[in-house]
Amino acid sequence: MGNRRFSGKVCRSIPALLVCVIIACLLLKHYGTGKSASRSVFAMDTYMELTAYGAEGEEALDRAVLEIRRIDELLSTGNADSEVSRLNAEKEGVLSEDLGYLLERSIEINEMSGGAFDITIYPVMKAWGFAGGEFRVPDDEELSELLAYVDMSRLKYSRESGRLEMPRQMELDFGGIGKGYAAQRVAEVLAEYDIGGAILNLGGNVQIYGSKPDGSEWKIAVKSPDGALPYLGILSFEGFSGGAGSSRAVVTSGGYERYFEKDGEIYHHIIDPRTGKPSDSGLVSATVVCSDGTLADGLSTAIFVMGYDRAVELWRGHKGEFELVLFDEQGKLYVTEGLDGSFASELEYEIIR
Ligand code: AMP
Ligand code: MG
Repeated sequence: MGNRRFSGKVCRSIPALLVCVIIACLLLKHYGTGKSASRSVFAMDTYMELTAYGAEGEEALDRAVLEIRRIDELLSTGNADSEVSRLNAEKEGVLSEDLGYLLERSIEINEMSGGAFDITIYPVMKAWGFAGGEFRVPDDEELSELLAYVDMSRLKYSRESGRLEMPRQMELDFGGIGKGYAAQRVAEVLAEYDIGGAILNLGGNVQIYGSKPDGSEWKIAVKSPDGALPYLGILSFEGFSGGAGSSRAVVTSGGYERYFEKDGEIYHHIIDPRTGKPSDSGLVSATVVCSDGTLADGLSTAIFVMGYDRAVELWRGHKGEFELVLFDEQGKLYVTEGLDGSFASELEYEIIR
C-alpha cells in the first residue's frame, strides 16, 4: 500500500519535474549561468555603460559597441568626415538610411512639439560655444540673424530619393536625438543574440531590454538636477519579452547637464528656437519614458523647451505613447498617470491625468 502510494507520487511528479528541468535548461541557455557581460564606452561625448545577461552577452555587447561607434561616426559634428559634417558643409546630399530615418523622426518631433525641437539649431549652438569653441554670450542682433535660418520647415527633403537640400546658412545638429537612436539600435542588435536582458546607459539615456535573470524588476533612478537629492525617484518595470520590441527607454533632459557661467548667470545647452537663448520654460528636468528610444530622446529635449503647460497638452494628445516625469523651478514634481504604480519618490509628487 505504502509503496504503491509512494510510487504513485513519483509517477505524478515526474512530468512536473520534467517541466521544471526543461524550464531551467531554457533559462540557463538564455541567461548562460546567470553570467553578465559589461562594457564601458566613451562615445558621442559621453560615458556609456552596457550590461547584458545571457549566454551570448559578450558577443552581443561587442556588436553593440561597434553599432554605437558607427552611429557616432555618422552624427559627430566634431568630426569633419562624418555624414552630418559633410552635409553641413555641402548643403545637399542623399542621406544614408540612418540619417534619413533620423531626419524623418526629427521632422515628426518638430511638428509634434510646435517647433520646440529643431535640429537646424546648430549655428546657434556654435554661437554660444556649445559646439566645441569658447563659451560666449552672443548679442540679440547676432541671434536674430542666426534664427532666420533655424526652421526645419525650410529643409527640402524627398522621402522617395532620400535627397536633402538646405539653405547655405543652415546646419544640422542631431545631438538632441542621437543617443536615444543609438540606444534603440543597440536594443535591436541585442535581439539577434541569445541574451535574456540588458541595461544600456548611454550618458543618461537609459534603455532596458528583456528581463533580468532573477526575474526581479528593472529599477531606473530618475536623475536629480541638484546635489541635494541623489535622484528624483525610482522607476520600476517588470521584464519585457518579445525580441526587438521588448525594451523601454527612460531619457532625461536638463539644463544642468551642460552649461557655463558668465557674470553670475548660468547658460545651458538646450536652446529655445524662438529666442536662440537657453530655454527658460520653468522646467528644471524633463524625463520621457517610452518604448521607442529615439522618440524618448527627441521628446525629452522638446519637452524641456516646451515647459509644463505645453508638455501636458502634448501628453494628453498622445496618451499611451509616452509618459513623463517633470520637475520645475519651484521644486514641484509631476508624474503622468501611466507611471502611477511604477514610480516611487521620497518627494511629494502630483499625478497628471
Ligand atoms: P538632450 O540632452 O537630449 O536634451 O540634447 C541636448 C542637445 O540637443 C544639445 O547639446 C544640442 O546639441 C541639441 N539641441 C539644443 N537645443 C535643441 C532644440 N531646441 N532642438 C533640438 N536639438 C537641440
Ligand atoms: Mg534629447
